[in-house]
Amino acid sequence: MTRAERAALIDRRLAELYPETPIPLDHRDPFTLLIAVLLSAQCTDARVNQVTPALFDLADTPEAMAALPVEVIQGIIRPCGLSPRKAAAISGLSKILLEKHGGKVPADFDLLEELPGVGHKTASVVMAQSFGVPAFPVDTHIHRLAQRWELTSGRSVEQTERDLKKIFPRDHWNRLHLRIIFYGREHCTARGCDGTVCPLCRELFPRRKRGKMAKKS
Ligand code: SF4
Repeated sequence: MTRAERAALIDRRLAELYPETPIPLDHRDPFTLLIAVLLSAQCTDARVNQVTPALFDLADTPEAMAALPVEVIQGIIRPCGLSPRKAAAISGLSKILLEKHGGKVPADFDLLEELPGVGHKTASVVMAQSFGVPAFPVDTHIHRLAQRWELTSGRSVEQTERDLKKIFPRDHWNRLHLRIIFYGREHCTARGCDGTVCPLCRELFPRRKRGKMAKKS
């Protein structure tokens, strides 16, 4: 099977397995999604969802967030880890949104990536999930699965993103990236496998004998 044939099969099978693609991080609008995605760095979505209701009840707009003392933000988000850095970023980006963007989250990759605490992956999630712009945010799950499914050499997350964008139709990216995350969490976890346990891998690699371990980015 060629790489393109594998990609088409994965696309089909994942759409059958996950016809619905709910957004894992609870949010109210682009601003609260941006904050939730920022908090999810090195933290599980489940934990972020436990923390954000209290934060958003206090402040769910850039204006209200910018008015909160950083220590208050930090106290609420502590369970998410890296709280000093994340609290400073949340406060700082809220002020920038107010001062430079009329209190709105800009629907623009470059402007988003200029905000403190917002990298390419965070910007991609917001563009995809809040604004419906095709993007392929590559997190650790996607990076790992793309390697195990031999869709990329996996040299870096940037390379994986380029390879996945090339091989999947643009109008599938947003839902497909969520489906790969769902599949990774459910079936293809970080601990490695023998490469033959899932029906999907047996279909993709009928002759595979040994596990395909993923390289880190
Ligand atoms: S067989 Fe292994 S690599 Fe393939 S999908 Fe299952 S867990 Fe992932």
